[in-house]
Amino acid sequence: MQDWFHIATHLPAPHLANDMAHNNNSRKIVMHFTEGNTGLGQARNIAQYVIREKKNYHMVIDLTTGEYVQIVPASGGSRSLLNGGINNGVGCNRSGELCVQIAICGKTSNAKTIMAKAGHHNWNKLVQWADTLQIPRINLSTNGRNTHQWNLSGWADHYSAPGNNHTDGLHDKTFLATIPFNKDRKVNRYKITAKVGAETRTILNRDGYPADHPDGWTLNPNQAKEFPEGRIRDENIPHVANWINRKGYTITSITTT
Ligand SMILES: [Zn+2]
Repeated sequence: MQDWFHIATHLPAPHLANDMAHNNNSRKIVMHFTEGNTGLGQARNIAQYVIREKKNYHMVIDLTTGEYVQIVPASGGSRSLLNGGINNGVGCNRSGELCVQIAICGKTSNAKTIMAKAGHHNWNKLVQWADTLQIPRINLSTNGRNTHQWNLSGWADHYSAPGNNHTDGLHDKTFLATIPFNKDRKVNRYKITAKVGAETRTILNRDGYPADHPDGWTLNPNQAKEFPEGRIRDENIPHVANWINRKGYTITSITTT
């Protein structure tokens, strides 16, 4: 797990004990909009402001310029929500295993315009960073302010936080459409051919479903533990290939079918 997003500028808050409560196992990202301006320097300005006010987000990002400023490491707690004591007395900011709060510069009402520019400014890398944090691509933002839903893992927003009254965040459906959630993703079917000595094996997998080829074998759930959710996804095919090599096989081809 990378505590710091590798392309972000670091502006660590010096005065916070960034502890998490670890009172449940949920791992999530909470999206905010700053409801202010976009433009060069804005992300840093907002970051400095919330540090001064001790209302830290983990990160402030401007998707119109590609400026990413990280304040708090992913494993720490930030301070941009109201704490209602939702789960055994622990508030929204620190509830769970990970609760990463990210503020997008700009107004929720301009989400469509902002997100149209995000693809050119490393938004995909941010989503992939969330993958490495084992935050599932599940939309938690349509629940009103439901406490049970808040304690699940996935992508949430200020609009969904129990005990809060701000409405910035993912509830804008044009914004949601920019995140490739699991259910929307096109899944490739892989066929990997490998050999050990004179023996040739065919390895098939399709996003965690068992191989059904008569000559195929697949990674069983134990073997697949090192992959997120125990599943073989497009982004971790290189890791699968490494795993096969470590088992002593030589890969002769990887194709999609
Ligand atoms: Zn907010």
